[in-house]
Amino acid sequence: MIVRRRWTAAATTAILFSAVLSHPGPGSAAPADPAPPITLSATETAVVRVQLRDQAQLDRLVAAGADLANRPRARDGRILADLVLTGTQLAELSAQGATAVQIVQRAGDGSRHYAESVRAAQARTAAGLRAPAAGQRTTASAVDTLQVQQAYWWTTGGQTFLQAQVATTATDDPDVEITVSWRTADGATGSFPLFRFEDSGEYQYHYALPQPVPSRPVQLSATSSLGGVSRVITPTLWPNATPPPLPAGYQKDFIDAYLTPIDIQARIKRLARQYRDLVDVIDLPNKTQGYRRNAVAYLGDPAVAAVVVESVRFGDQGMNGVQVRTVDPGRPNRPLTVGYRDRVLTVSLATDTAGKTVSSTDEVATAINTRQPNRFRATVEDGSAGLPMPVAGPARLDDGLQGSEVPARPWTVQALRLGVHRDGSRVGVLAYSQEHAREWATPLVTLEFAERMLANSRTDPATRELLEQVDIFVIPTVNPDGANYSFNDFNMQRKNLVNHCTGPARDPKNRTSWGVDVNRNYTVGSYFDGYVGASANCLSGTYAGTAELSEAESSNVIALAQTHPNIRFAMNVHSYGGYFMWPPGAYRADGRVTLPRPSIDESTLFLDSARRIVGAIAQERGTVTWPSQTGPVADVLYSAAGNSADQLYYELGIFAWDFEVGNDRWNPGTGEWEGVGFQPPFDEAHGESQEYAGGLVELVRVARDHAAAQPAA
Ligand SMILES: [Zn+2]
Repeated sequence: MIVRRRWTAAATTAILFSAVLSHPGPGSAAPADPAPPITLSATETAVVRVQLRDQAQLDRLVAAGADLANRPRARDGRILADLVLTGTQLAELSAQGATAVQIVQRAGDGSRHYAESVRAAQARTAAGLRAPAAGQRTTASAVDTLQVQQAYWWTTGGQTFLQAQVATTATDDPDVEITVSWRTADGATGSFPLFRFEDSGEYQYHYALPQPVPSRPVQLSATSSLGGVSRVITPTLWPNATPPPLPAGYQKDFIDAYLTPIDIQARIKRLARQYRDLVDVIDLPNKTQGYRRNAVAYLGDPAVAAVVVESVRFGDQGMNGVQVRTVDPGRPNRPLTVGYRDRVLTVSLATDTAGKTVSSTDEVATAINTRQPNRFRATVEDGSAGLPMPVAGPARLDDGLQGSEVPARPWTVQALRLGVHRDGSRVGVLAYSQEHAREWATPLVTLEFAERMLANSRTDPATRELLEQVDIFVIPTVNPDGANYSFNDFNMQRKNLVNHCTGPARDPKNRTSWGVDVNRNYTVGSYFDGYVGASANCLSGTYAGTAELSEAESSNVIALAQTHPNIRFAMNVHSYGGYFMWPPGAYRADGRVTLPRPSIDESTLFLDSARRIVGAIAQERGTVTWPSQTGPVADVLYSAAGNSADQLYYELGIFAWDFEVGNDRWNPGTGEWEGVGFQPPFDEAHGESQEYAGGLVELVRVARDHAAAQPAA
């Protein structure tokens, strides 16, 4: 039995799941056109936008460690969540009443989009979104009070949008319906419903996704089904901040394809050579494991009875191709023996008086572990415990890694340091990306930013001045091993490549679920401190590791910040969804107690800076990050225990933000916001790199302005 058969996603059984794509808008009984069915083969993995049946279904998913790609949102009173799923899992969800709305990204899309780009160039853990119940209008005796917390409008791509957030004083009544009414300057009117938003069981507010309106809204008010009426207010322009205009001849667009970690290494080298006077390359202190895995094989048939045998060393360390087999000694009354010769591990099974083999799977695994502990590890395959061990093999051990061009050795993660004065005398800004391997667009953002600063410093006096005043640090790929795996083996890989699993969880059928979530491995508000949004399960998408900072990748980010105490601002670049966030990023489940809130002054700095940076992002192609997705992580996304921004802020006093690049795109044809995924067609990734690089340039201006306002040290 060749191990690879189990590993490759080639569907042996082409069970097709299909669901009817529908747009159940209010007032529309059925879609006008029959939409194509959403199909996913049983073993294919995809990012799917799913309309869930109810809150309980979401809670069950979160409890089961579902890989949530985005914050669940309300649409037409239902909960929408982007989930990383196989066809089998999608079929199960569908049987429980969920509906697939959009395939955001298929497993094959990433490699196709990568190949196309090269050719061309060359959980929320306990979120609550509840729909208003029908038919309970104004029957209650109590009248509530409504407060409009946010009402913002903006125009992008010729379409004006309005977004509102309203809180009722009837916080414990899940059936309160709130409706927002608006009027434009030229007298058009309309209304839309808001949806109750709970988090960790506590009422937060009512809100809706941005709604299209015909032109600038000048009046907004809200009414509730309990009779509450808000004040009439004038919506505010969002973000209402514009960066300085770019000078003629400003250079940009340095990204023409997706970049693998090897490409990134080469880019770093080129920039250092080309801009010698402005660049240092910093080798971060903790080498990663590298693109390596233990070699492994099933001895026996996992469908019948098998033992998983793996090498103690990595496959590339001479263990790929080693063979393992069980043999019948052909004589009665023989003991179980284990021998290793000429790269073949031979287990001779015990026999009874009649010469029949009598060893069990457990006995074979124990014998291998006892007699060859320095070379091999064996575990009984899940479901094979206590079964008679068959005569099997030889099976070839293999690490299963497909990326033949990736060097199999520990990897040195590198940072670029940019500036005229790289001596700690200037305020430092840190931009780092790809903590999560599958977020391919994120290094494009930080590298475009770095090269813009360097190229324009020679031609644009304003850029030169920024490099005089600010010391810039960029880590384009924090998690290169996971990224190599994402490009070569499994494009949905989120975590690093370190496998901390023990026992049956090491079965190679779990090979795409191993690794540590780098952005859950930091020390502040961590899983180990009792915060929500990370897992102790080594197979979970948010596995926190064996201890705080157990991983080289997270330790590198902190080491860089600690070694350079002039760093006062940081941006952690992720994808996707279109968010702009800052601490606190985690809370304890019990009572939803967050990490301490920033002071009023600091909150003002976070929000004012956010508006400037959101404004700069919008300059490129009109992408506006929603007000509802601008704010503290714990409020606008989910609790993320042990994330890097929280450690940078609470422990090192750094103003630490997070981007989720890749904003939803408005589809005027369907009237829906559509998700873009982790590895969109390259045109979209390119657009993200350009707009968010502009945001990082604005962050540098924020840092410069902040430093200039401080009394001289
Ligand atoms: Zn991420």
